[in-house]
Amino acid sequence: MERKYTGIILNKKDSNEASRIYTIYTLEEGKIQAIAQGARKARSKLAGNLENFILADIFVAKSKGRGRITGAVAEKVFLNMRNDFESLNCVFRAARLLDKLTGIGEKDEKIFNLFHEFLSAVDKLAGEKTGTGELLLRGFILKLLDCLGYKIEANFCVSCSKKLLEKGNFFSAEKGGFICGACAGKEERKLSVTANVIKIMRIALNSKIASLEKLKVSEKDMENMKKITEEFVVWVSN
Ligand SMILES: [Zn+2]
Repeated sequence: MERKYTGIILNKKDSNEASRIYTIYTLEEGKIQAIAQGARKARSKLAGNLENFILADIFVAKSKGRGRITGAVAEKVFLNMRNDFESLNCVFRAARLLDKLTGIGEKDEKIFNLFHEFLSAVDKLAGEKTGTGELLLRGFILKLLDCLGYKIEANFCVSCSKKLLEKGNFFSAEKGGFICGACAGKEERKLSVTANVIKIMRIALNSKIASLEKLKVSEKDMENMKKITEEFVVWVSN
């Protein structure tokens, strides 16, 4: 039986002398793994359409176990970002996280569309302004965690439910959001958060990834946002 998938290549690894195993995030079935025979040969046409982060129509023959890729037609190669180290590095980290946090065959169209949206945004803005890739990556992470059921509460204190004041708030990964200054004393693990980062996170959770590019984010805010998202990722993945 042969199936056609619309998928984005997350990664590939050599299997034996000539073959490669591809991990692909598909629209139809979520993450899948399939093998391409002969893909390591220098003149493999198939391999050219299966480079990392290419969006392609992929044909997979399946009987039992892992499927075998019989054909692939690249639809979008995102060429712009491939020439920009920062952009490519951010995409690598996004793909690694997506691979880590999702299981084989867990279909989720929202996640597929989100990764596609992220790649398009990074590709469009590649090389324009230092730090943009990192900001888009942070937006992607927040939205991915939201899709997986871990949405950060960014409007109310997760401890007392009061509306957050502009200043003096903290983040607690364990509680899944921000806590106000009054409640913070009771928490052991907490990170202080800048007023601007809470705003950026609200926007990230409610708008398209590309819209983050317009925001003014200082270096300090960026570091703060990185710390908070990383802490949340660690908490979610343990
Ligand atoms: Zn509170």
